[in-house]
Amino acid sequence: IKKIGVLTSGGDSPGMNAAIRSVVRTCAYHNIECIGIYRGYQGMIEGDFKEMGPRSVNNIVNKGGTILKSARSKEFMTPEGRKKAHQNLVAAGVDALVVIGGDGSFTGAEVFNSEYDYPVMGIPGTIDNDIFGTSHTLGFDTALNTVVECIDKIRDTASSHNRLFLVEVMGRDAGHIALNAGIGAGAEEILIPEEDLGLDRLLDSLRRSKASGKSSSIVVIAEGDKIGKSVFELKDYIEENFPEYDIRVSVLGHMQRGGAPTCYDRVLASRLGVKAVESILEGKSNFMVGIVNDKVALTPLEQAIKGHSEIDRELLRVSDIMST
Ligand code: ATP
Repeated sequence: IKKIGVLTSGGDSPGMNAAIRSVVRTCAYHNIECIGIYRGYQGMIEGDFKEMGPRSVNNIVNKGGTILKSARSKEFMTPEGRKKAHQNLVAAGVDALVVIGGDGSFTGAEVFNSEYDYPVMGIPGTIDNDIFGTSHTLGFDTALNTVVECIDKIRDTASSHNRLFLVEVMGRDAGHIALNAGIGAGAEEILIPEEDLGLDRLLDSLRRSKASGKSSSIVVIAEGDKIGKSVFELKDYIEENFPEYDIRVSVLGHMQRGGAPTCYDRVLASRLGVKAVESILEGKSNFMVGIVNDKVALTPLEQAIKGHSEIDRELLRVSDIMST
């Protein structure tokens, strides 16, 4: 291995830049070349490459987003697209690939590996934390801190007006952001896709909390929650059944994907980048690097894609007890 390519793909997340920096500098440390590939797989197909040395990643450890840009590429889903991408890598002398992205990006990497026996290594970058084989994905911790900061602010206005706030957070089909940020921000109830709380229990809980003297409440709702209603429909439903409450909805949206990465995400990105490059140099391929029991560990890409990142049941219980 003389040259490694690095790209970011799918949804961006804070910490991706720190991971690019780590990959680039680990390559330099081991005296191998590094090529940055712009706009994910689409840039691979178009040959949008740039040589990257250790100084080309100055001052990015603290930046959100990704300097390499990210994209979704329909063309890479086709054998013709992947053929072009492979030809470009071969022409540029790139021997292996580090893919920073989510499960879709890993699926693309795995397909590419099986077609061309091309060495690939994945680094999990998504705020949703929905990838098996790592306790934390890049950006998750930053997103949690962003959500908690927002809810703290919402709490100020909620308590001044005796309001019930329904706060929708990201996470796609996973409730990791909702559950962790909900506990951290002191939410009354947390609705997540993994656990069907049911509307009756929600109303009961709100009634109990009102009866116990709470004048305002915050309910955190994961965007993928399966209670069967949008957050706005849920507002209408609670209002009909519980007219005592003045309800407001806040959908936090894309601010959760931005911002300077937390120290945790920067350290994580640095560790995963080192491990990704060094694993490639040891001849390994088709793995994702992640954190398991606080240690850096490899998980086969196939398992990372197909496995399910479970919700921690202990957190559900803690959340229940905290809303007493
Ligand atoms: P996020 O979790 O933030 O959405 P992701 O990596 O899951 O990130 P996707 O849009 O699902 O994002 O995938 C990124 C890209 O990976 C796709 O645009 C496509 O180019 C490639 N990809 C996904 N699935 C496949 C597949 N089955 N075959 C080839 N390429 C794929």
